[in-house]
Amino acid sequence: MTASVPSPEDGEPLPYKEVTDEAYARLAAGSFTVEEPRPGTLILRGPCPRCRAPMEIPLVSGIVRSPRAAGERLRRRPRPQQETVEPMMCTCEDDHPNRPEGRYGCGAYWTLTVSAGPR
Ligand SMILES: [Zn+2]
Ligand SMILES: [Zn+2]
Repeated sequence: MTASVPSPEDGEPLPYKEVTDEAYARLAAGSFTVEEPRPGTLILRGPCPRCRAPMEIPLVSGIVRSPRAAGERLRRRPRPQQETVEPMMCTCEDDHPNRPEGRYGCGAYWTLTVSAGPR
């Protein structure tokens, strides 16, 4: 018997679609790596969980507070680790049909929990 359903991995371009799935977050958590080439700059690297295009997303965090500048009052919140949840979106330049003009990626978006260890 021959299946007539084309394999999605078989070079068929994925149509652009703004979509998320909890599996994306899980896949990304397992496959993305975080590098810290310099203090305050993180680079997330990994394949898009939907279209598998390799991505490299620099996070220059203006969020990282200098240890003393942040109000001491905020310390009441327990912070076991420095974790930020980064919203991410596929930014590949691959060909995805139906993609609106001026957009990048396949439309997939997800969140990645990035834990930047205390230095
Ligand atoms: Zn993608
Ligand atoms: Zn793509």
